[in-house]
Amino acid sequence: MLITAALLVETGSDLEVVELELAPPRRDEVLVRLHASGICRSDLSLLDGMWPAPLPMVLGHEGAGVIEDVGEDVDPSRVGEYVVLTFTPACGRCRFCLQGRVNLCTEAARCMDDGVLRDGTTRLSLDGARVHHLALVSSFATHAVVPANAAIAVPAELDPARACLLGCGVMTGVVSVTRRANVRPGESVAVLGCGGVGLATVLGARLVSAHPIVAVEPVAPKRELALRLGATHAVDPASEDPVTAVRRIVPEGVDHAFEAFGSAAVAEQAFAATRTGGTTVLIGQPAMGVTVPLPVYELTQFEHDVLGTHIGGATPALEIPGLATLALAGKLDLAPLVTHRFSLGEIGEALETTRSGTAGRVVLQLA
Ligand SMILES: [Zn+2]
Ligand SMILES: [Zn+2]
Repeated sequence: MLITAALLVETGSDLEVVELELAPPRRDEVLVRLHASGICRSDLSLLDGMWPAPLPMVLGHEGAGVIEDVGEDVDPSRVGEYVVLTFTPACGRCRFCLQGRVNLCTEAARCMDDGVLRDGTTRLSLDGARVHHLALVSSFATHAVVPANAAIAVPAELDPARACLLGCGVMTGVVSVTRRANVRPGESVAVLGCGGVGLATVLGARLVSAHPIVAVEPVAPKRELALRLGATHAVDPASEDPVTAVRRIVPEGVDHAFEAFGSAAVAEQAFAATRTGGTTVLIGQPAMGVTVPLPVYELTQFEHDVLGTHIGGATPALEIPGLATLALAGKLDLAPLVTHRFSLGEIGEALETTRSGTAGRVVLQLA
């Protein structure tokens, strides 16, 4: 079938909205009519060539929609199911899947690196030439073919523009709090960087009744949004030293500091704002090769943990339905996160809005 998609032909150039051929789903795959796709910083990193990607490729990795067709060995009753897509479906066989660390699945990583589906081929093509999938999702398009277990059922009542965020940004932020850092009620939290993932980290901290929750962010509208979503304090790191400011609110340092900006300098600030025996969680993804010095004395003497995390350590098939349920119950306030909506034809403007560092998330409405 012919679909419309935003294609990355060459890094550093604009995405081209084109018609592509999408082959039918094969064994253990489904065809999804996409309703919405979030735009994540990682899409910009690929667009800018910060991370390697096989080209041409359809970007987008936060998708929500409806299953329209199923391949061999997939229950036909799944047609019509509302789903959120995940880029780390469990292969169920690799070391990490067997350990319950599905977010590190070797098979999903291989598909991501090669821009292919599990059988090593693509369903996308242009004039007979291969077009690559981004991370088994490729949601800047009207339709996608994905592994059947990468399409996670969610209640149909959830607005797709909110539901799609559960695929990456919201899940990453919330689950970094609930799983990776295992924040307990009453523990103190600082979130450094309040982009989409940082704001979701604030939501997660509120969900588990952390207190206080200090948002550190130089852009005023993002600080305001963080306060609206549950931060108890907001700090402008452009006007005062953020570590001093956090330690003025929590003198011994916070139990958990989350770096959600993606820079070495902010990672060092997060470390310095963390208390003895506390945890610094690195979520933000800088360019490849970025390093920070490791203060070994503090790590050993004060049992200071530094945790890296990829989508919060989530098992997406477990977390996405759970977060969707919380959202529908009014316990996870996703509405304020969706601040801009664009059509697929407006992808250029949508990407520029994301790049401008606007508060909240930019979402493509695809249906
Ligand atoms: Zn993402
Ligand atoms: Zn696996």
